[in-house]
Amino acid sequence: MKSVTESTTGCATVIFIDPPLRLACREALPEGTVVTVRGISIGGREIVVMAGPCAVESEEQILRTAEAVKESGARILRGGAYKPRTSPYTFQGLREEGLKLLAEARDQTGLAVVTEVMDARHIDLVSRYADILQIGSRNMQNFTLLEEVGRCRIPTLLKRGMSATIEEFLQAAEYVMKGGNHQVILCERGIRTFETSTRNTLDLNAVPMLKRHTHLPVVVDPSHGTGLWWMVPALACAAIAAGADGLLIEVHQNPAGALSDGIQSLAPEKFDVLMRDLRAVALAVGRTWLARAE
Ligand code: PEP
Ligand code: MN
Repeated sequence: MKSVTESTTGCATVIFIDPPLRLACREALPEGTVVTVRGISIGGREIVVMAGPCAVESEEQILRTAEAVKESGARILRGGAYKPRTSPYTFQGLREEGLKLLAEARDQTGLAVVTEVMDARHIDLVSRYADILQIGSRNMQNFTLLEEVGRCRIPTLLKRGMSATIEEFLQAAEYVMKGGNHQVILCERGIRTFETSTRNTLDLNAVPMLKRHTHLPVVVDPSHGTGLWWMVPALACAAIAAGADGLLIEVHQNPAGALSDGIQSLAPEKFDVLMRDLRAVALAVGRTWLARAE
């Protein structure tokens, strides 16, 4: 049997993942993995928000956005320097220059940095600037990349492939862990369904399912999961209520002028309002929230 199913007949709950997970399964670490980066714990009681633009576009843009999201309570700055774009004619990212700007923003704000590594040949370079390596949806089953990232000791944010089942997602995490890198954070970012009114269908089922079957932290990306900025707040709150450990949210100073994903990016003022609502949801479900100056 290839899919994740549960037996309700035996005395113990049995999940069938074939072959079974060895390192990522919940039983391997029942108390749960806490990934720690620059003093920030992901997978503990605190809800951790990672926020920033889809892509690093300029020094001014990333520095101003970093200040804004920090002020609202984000702990980690996101921003792509290497962008996996559908068309080769659209903005591909500032590459190394973008990595340098992210590091500058980190130095100025104290935020940790998460950014995508698209190619195994770039791991060394990206690792020099990033605190967390992001493996994008399109690369979730790039097994060479997974194995190479598994050889590093840098926390890794693994995004669910847009057509990946929960089992395939967990097996991808297993690839990274098999190499010795156990600092893996899973990210649900929406899957392709027959629905066309949204960019993807955010699969919030994945949150309790993953929490049940793996000890790895789970975060949710409602920006790519919906593709629409005005839907992001509702789904972000729902994700925390469903048990996610954190969020990945796109924020842009000027969404209408963004070089990528502006339509799903929140302006800083809207992000700030959302963060206040998220705090209330987090506290209501027994999580903690970074204290912020009112
Ligand atoms: C991103 O986070 O900007 C991104 C490209 O995400 P995904 O890989 O989920 O499409
Ligand atoms: Mn994006």
